[in-house]
Amino acid sequence: MTNSSDKLNPFQIAQRQLDEAASMLGLDPAIHALLREPLREFVVNFPVRMDDGSMEVFKGYRVQYNDARGPTKGGLRFHPDETIDTVRALAAWMTWKCAVVDIPLGGAKGGVTCNPKSLSPYELERVARGYIRAVFKVLGEHTDIPAPDVYTTPQIMAWMMDEYSVMRGHNVPGMITGKPLPLGGSAGRSDATARGGIFCVREAAGVLDLDVRGATAAIQGYGNAGHFVHQLGSELLGLKVVALSDSQGGIYNPGGFDYEAVHKYKRQTGSVIDFPEAKNITNKELLELDVSILFPAALESVITVQNAPDIKAKIIAELANGPTTPEADQILYQKGVYIIPDFLCNAGGVTVSYFEQVQNAYNYYWPVETVHERLDNKMTAAFQAVHAMARQRKVHNRLAAYLVAVARVAEAVTLRGWV
Ligand code: NAD
Repeated sequence: MTNSSDKLNPFQIAQRQLDEAASMLGLDPAIHALLREPLREFVVNFPVRMDDGSMEVFKGYRVQYNDARGPTKGGLRFHPDETIDTVRALAAWMTWKCAVVDIPLGGAKGGVTCNPKSLSPYELERVARGYIRAVFKVLGEHTDIPAPDVYTTPQIMAWMMDEYSVMRGHNVPGMITGKPLPLGGSAGRSDATARGGIFCVREAAGVLDLDVRGATAAIQGYGNAGHFVHQLGSELLGLKVVALSDSQGGIYNPGGFDYEAVHKYKRQTGSVIDFPEAKNITNKELLELDVSILFPAALESVITVQNAPDIKAKIIAELANGPTTPEADQILYQKGVYIIPDFLCNAGGVTVSYFEQVQNAYNYYWPVETVHERLDNKMTAAFQAVHAMARQRKVHNRLAAYLVAVARVAEAVTLRGWV
């Protein structure tokens, strides 16, 4: 069986989600039209010298979706499947994400179409620096501030900050976040996305009256978001993580996985598959496991009409952006699955990125406990606002999150007198 939303590209899905919220909010048609499209988008092609002396041309993107509430902010992906539509969708979701956690920023996203796994460290550095030279004019600490995302790292942020600072003629740490600590990174940034998601799961368990200690969990994707959710889910909530995966496949053990052991194994071998005393499973099988909590933490559109009927989790905590298609959303809502929608669940990363910028501006740095406490306050307030909206309007959580976020962006657009 196929259905329309499974054939839509991620940006069409993002627009469709907005349309539903706009209609429920009775949004002014001009504001709706403005919020349906990015304000600005840039496509760049830039040459990079490869290690063998040849020259290759890379395509990069930066989409600044909406800056009514403040400078735009959003990550950079280095991925072979990167397209302008993925970037547009991610930029839209960044706009709603910053609004739902109520930080004074707009939304953007960017990336380079490349396979970082096939690049040497020197080539990767030249791609990072080449991208910054290509988009230099549209970035800045008061304009648009990138951050890490899929297959980009604190080291890549450091090269980008250095290149940008050389071009400006002075150190500009606040032009990018997710930097290493010695270059103005924030304490608590590396695990912030996962920690924010875990705070949401704690709150969800509270409203559902679910005891999470010992509850089973499956995590799809074992990168920045996924591996920290394994660690923090075990440490802070006592979850039993029984399944994990990465791009090469997954592993399952009903007795649960020890974080340190799997993390070390993945670092040594490059993948979680063939982990000792575990059964190898596919990414598809992982999503359909009988677990209490499912964490999609890889890529978009993995939960569709095809597999939604077979999903057994009680809570889906969407650390990935856009993992669930709109029709799958409806199926899961009808089944009573409690979804913590992406731009709420994974907002911890941008929240601590915002804290990083604040610290860069002051040139004064907070202890990690302060970061954790302020992150908890932001995530808990955002979760409770969305939960209350869902109850009040009798809608699923994703629509409720849109209602909260879009109303805030629309208010800023109106106050500025744009429409
Ligand atoms: P990452 O590059 O660190 O990790 C990505 C992981 O996904 C890797 O383990 C990779 O092997 C796995 N993967 C790739 N393709 C896969 C596939 N087809 N099936 C299963 N696994 C696959 O990226 P990340 O930063 O952890 O981001 C993961 C998701 O979380 C993305 O959707 C990203 O947009 C979202 N996100 C990340 C952050 C952050 O701060 N890192 C913040 C908000 C949202």
